[in-house]
Amino acid sequence: MSETLASTENPARNARASLLHSLVAQSPALIAIRGNDGTYLYANESFAQMLNLPAESLPGRHEDDVLRTAGVTRTLRIGNGASVEITHNEEEAVVGLRSRRFLVTRFPLRAGDGEVIASGMIATEIGARAGTIANPAEYAEARHAELLHALEQMERLAYTDRLTGAWNRRHLEDAALLEMSRAERHGHAVSLLVLDVDHFKEINDQFGHAVGDYVLVELVRCIRGDIRRADTVTRWGGEEFIVLAPDTALREAEQLAQKLCARVAEAQLSSARPVTISVGVAEYHCGEGFEHWLARADRAMYRAKDNGRNRVVADPYSAFAGDGTRQACSPVELVWRESYRSGNDRVDRQHHQLFEHANRLLHAVMSHAPRAEVLEAMEVLVEDITAHFAEEEQLHDAIGFPAREAHAAEHGRLLAQAARLFERVRQDADLPIAEVFQFLAYDVVAQHLVGADRQYFHYLETPSGNHM
Ligand code: GH3
Ligand code: MG
Ligand code: MG
Repeated sequence: MSETLASTENPARNARASLLHSLVAQSPALIAIRGNDGTYLYANESFAQMLNLPAESLPGRHEDDVLRTAGVTRTLRIGNGASVEITHNEEEAVVGLRSRRFLVTRFPLRAGDGEVIASGMIATEIGARAGTIANPAEYAEARHAELLHALEQMERLAYTDRLTGAWNRRHLEDAALLEMSRAERHGHAVSLLVLDVDHFKEINDQFGHAVGDYVLVELVRCIRGDIRRADTVTRWGGEEFIVLAPDTALREAEQLAQKLCARVAEAQLSSARPVTISVGVAEYHCGEGFEHWLARADRAMYRAKDNGRNRVVADPYSAFAGDGTRQACSPVELVWRESYRSGNDRVDRQHHQLFEHANRLLHAVMSHAPRAEVLEAMEVLVEDITAHFAEEEQLHDAIGFPAREAHAAEHGRLLAQAARLFERVRQDADLPIAEVFQFLAYDVVAQHLVGADRQYFHYLETPSGNHM
């Protein structure tokens, strides 16, 4: 509106205003004006160039927002609009990966009545230019150090969770792969703990997201205080965390999990209500993939939830016997152990035989035997499993095993999965070796025969004796 007035009523003033505007717009100095609400009212070309943004995109946007997105750390803020003083400072601004020095003048802009209505900034770059560097080697070294620092910072950010400072998924995956290969090569044990906050949703719902966030930050602090230096905490997602414990076999890992569980419960992370966690533990089994290892720990964690929360459940597999001796670590051999016995001869014979037939299939797969041989070994094993499951279900009825329906449903699930895998082995040109191995070794043998079946073993120890 004033422009229209100026253009019609005062041509001389109009010309002056337009020159002034060009001067500001084209000045090599960085010039910007910010309203009292923190949004830019004006920014010239040089200022916008420094941020790598078009000048016309800045008015209306909040200063904090713009500088953060542009990667500007420290300085070059116009700052609080309430300031009434004119100030001059020499400042260093880190823009992206570059550090530059500026002479910065900040000043209030006043309305006719003297009230401060906005703040302005003029910044002139005074950073060393090629011709004026007194000591080029020193200068180069300093820039190099800055660059390394910035890269380090970026790397750290890429590897950590912003809220809690814990590792992020990527970091854990890298570290876990390293630990897994150490375990394969040197026979070290390594374990995973999956920790999930109990009823966290209620904490959010009752006290708000900010309190929820605070609890997560405090939880990580609490866990860190209780683990060894070599152990790490990762935020896997939401309110689920993972502790990777190198050189730790199942028994020790379980003890660590118990300690963390108790510590969190008594730490009163929120004064408003108790915070507890459920923990699943799994020791790495050589030959298995990271996903599979994690899935075992995760399933154990869900069992801890089902059993009432604020507790620990461990997946039964360990490469170490009770006396600390190590079981052979062969990715192609399932080793039957005395501790797997149920006490029922027939069940044990069948379980033992399943181990042997599983090994036969594994050898066929791993030694690249002809497809017909692999298929035959798989057929034998699936028949074995089917017959054994049917017989076991009859036994459950006979001994009145309370969880027999759930157990039978699990049998059904495993058989359906075996049938699907069988079909793929029949049809695919490439044998899904990893899947065959993981399914048989972990899902059927380690998880089911050695894990789930344990739940009914003690029902066998009734005076009525052998039921099979
Ligand atoms: P359970 O004991 O079965 O684990 O119950 P739960 O309520 O903890 O589990 P559920 O998975 O139902 O809810 C998780 C909640 O965590 C839902 C989600 O809003 C909340 N959440 C996820 N990430 C964050 C976060 O970064 N901050 C906050 N405050 N809440 C989060
Ligand atoms: Mg959850
Ligand atoms: Mg939860």
